[in-house]
Amino acid sequence: MSFKDSKVVIVGAGNVGATTAYSILNQAICEEVVLIDVNKDKAIAEALDMQHSIYFMNRNMSIKAGDYSDCRDADVVVITASAPMPKDSHNRLEMLAPSMRIVKSIVDSVMSNGFDGVFVVISNPVDIMSYYIWKLSRLPKNRIIGTGTTLDTARLCCELSKMYNLDAKSVEAFVMAEHGDSEMVSWASATIGGKNLSDVFADNADRTKDITKDELLKRTKEAGWEIFNRKGNTCYGIASSATAIIKSILFNENRILPVSVGLNGEYGLNNMFLSVPTIINKNGAKEIVEIKLADEERALLQKSAEVVQGFYKELQI
Ligand code: NAD
Repeated sequence: MSFKDSKVVIVGAGNVGATTAYSILNQAICEEVVLIDVNKDKAIAEALDMQHSIYFMNRNMSIKAGDYSDCRDADVVVITASAPMPKDSHNRLEMLAPSMRIVKSIVDSVMSNGFDGVFVVISNPVDIMSYYIWKLSRLPKNRIIGTGTTLDTARLCCELSKMYNLDAKSVEAFVMAEHGDSEMVSWASATIGGKNLSDVFADNADRTKDITKDELLKRTKEAGWEIFNRKGNTCYGIASSATAIIKSILFNENRILPVSVGLNGEYGLNNMFLSVPTIINKNGAKEIVEIKLADEERALLQKSAEVVQGFYKELQI
């Protein structure tokens, strides 16, 4: 795949879809971006607005409002369409029923137009929607990637980096499992600059203060709601997360990110989608990385899997 032929279709041109398109253009990672939305004016307006910004960017690219026939030769289709989130809601799982209806109609349209690339799923509840899209599309498991806990991982690394005044990229700590209340952290394998996190905590007590791992996980889980409560959506973090995943697909990067992927016995889990560290390349989810979890972490991962699987019976497949 070369830059010249690369094409990403984004279904849902709302806050997340439009910001993802802008992030892709800003990083100049593909030649053509297409926006699809039931609200055609919104898709047209966002595309036009972004078209004018390309004049100031690093290379020439194209963005337009399109339709499902654009999926035929797309490398990646991003699903971010959604019903509006109720203002007082604090649980992504409440989005299941409306998301299911919307996602089903979209996947039917994408597949009937001959799509043969990789789905990147953002719509919530993202782990359940990723599984649902796998079932509906009948594509191989590796071609469906949910953004999952990539964003939560960025939030955790950001919190840790602030404590020690570091670049967040120097922190390697994965948030895993459900993108939601049952998510957990692989603390046992977490490092900062190659140093075990527990040692960093102990050796820098003046900066660690009384912040515990439980408190960090709580802050990570609440970060999205803190933003949502103030402005009614979150868009930049998720758009950057999706862009990193799409870049790894288009550039065949083999980058490891914690994404929602179809498990084949890894971590003792089967036939379901959950976030675990995964090598991402032009084939989508190339390989799942099994990191060594502490016994209690493995139990939390299992518990989260049960939460997610509990909703599969509600899916209309
Ligand atoms: P939004 O309401 O701003 O945008 C949703 C868009 O989808 C709207 O423009 C709407 O017209 C469009 N749409 C609805 N039905 C459609 C259909 N059948 N076909 C095409 N388009 C359709 O919402 P948002 O803030 O952009 O959020 C989008 C989704 O992303 C939500 O499910 C949200 O929960 C999710 N999200 C996920 C993460 C994550 O980490 N996975 C982070 C943030 C948001």
